[in-house]
Amino acid sequence: MKLNEHYFELTESYLFSDIARRVKAFAAAHPDQKIIRMGIGDVTRPLPPAVTAALEGAAREMGQRETFRGYGPEQGYPFLREAVAAYYQSHSTVVSPEEIFIGDGAKSDLGNILDLFSPACTVLIPDPVYPVYVDTNVMAGRRIVYLNASGQNGFLPLPDPRVKADILYICSPNNPTGAAYDRQGLQAFVDYARENGALILYDAAYEAFITDPALPRSIYEIEGARQCAIEFCSLSKTAGFTGLRCGYTVVPQELVFEGHSLRAMWLRRQTTKFNGVSYPVQRAAAVALSEEGRRASEENISYYRENARLLMQALDKRGIFYTGGRHSPYLFMRCENGMGSWQYFDWLLENAGIVGTPGAGFGKNGENYFRLSAFGGREETKEAAERLLNL
Ligand code: PLP
Repeated sequence: MKLNEHYFELTESYLFSDIARRVKAFAAAHPDQKIIRMGIGDVTRPLPPAVTAALEGAAREMGQRETFRGYGPEQGYPFLREAVAAYYQSHSTVVSPEEIFIGDGAKSDLGNILDLFSPACTVLIPDPVYPVYVDTNVMAGRRIVYLNASGQNGFLPLPDPRVKADILYICSPNNPTGAAYDRQGLQAFVDYARENGALILYDAAYEAFITDPALPRSIYEIEGARQCAIEFCSLSKTAGFTGLRCGYTVVPQELVFEGHSLRAMWLRRQTTKFNGVSYPVQRAAAVALSEEGRRASEENISYYRENARLLMQALDKRGIFYTGGRHSPYLFMRCENGMGSWQYFDWLLENAGIVGTPGAGFGKNGENYFRLSAFGGREETKEAAERLLNL
């Protein structure tokens, strides 16, 4: 028996355990200090009543002989795939239910899609970004080339035609920077992919936070994207499904590489290794994507947006550079006084009792930056903004 040695090439992620350890030590030393946690990437608003009613209704159906359901279609129930297609249609994007695959969240599909590609592929990954892209490719032994994001390019780097890659990752709006590509930016990726026979893996987990209609919410708003891009999305941040678990992946019919349809390959992969998302969760997801559900989710997103506005206001008043906040629940601020991101973590905890996430946890280019999340409660966000202002 031989192990997959690539697992030993993974850098150990101590990010959240390190944060927890430092916060615990600080709390023990300062029992009277109220700590405000702005490090989380998890939502806090509860599910809308229509969604929980759908869950309850579906659970009851499972308890009756006439309405009981066993294994469902691996690709997802047609009612949910149609609801996802209608959701796309609501922001003027056409995808067919046959191209939509229901899964238990974007993280699983982002990792699992790599089953389709050779370990010999070179992947281009932005830095900083959601660490899952890097780790899932390290596990498979793929060569990774980084696309450097920085304050200079507004954290929206474009592919360099001289650098050859087979698979390109885009996360827009980005976690952690909150930066969102415009049409021109995404067109540059699509053009690169088509010229180089490369594939784009587009992570739209935060698309619902985009407010500017000029910014695309889907890669398929870009001409030529259906020939070169797979899109991943999730109900986690849009509809509060982080605990319920439901997402979807779009694999257009036009995606043909080396004479093979990626949609057919992904269907084969899913029917072999996946037995679908539970029926009650799919019913809840369909309601979350209905007009009523969307209205309720929009209220929650507006709540987080107001939190982001309060934090932006404080940083603006202090003249601190940051990205995000406008089309994202995250603000990525430059650490004050040239501090490194862990140094700033300790300093901010010590001086303001605020916990954030050090940018270094998302890649080397995050080193002098710090992520604040707007997913918290209003009162604590107000207080955090006040403390940032008075630092
Ligand atoms: N993609 C990005 C960019 C994320 O930040 C996250 C979660 O934080 C995910 C995907 C995973 O989401 P899900 O809950 O759908 O697995």
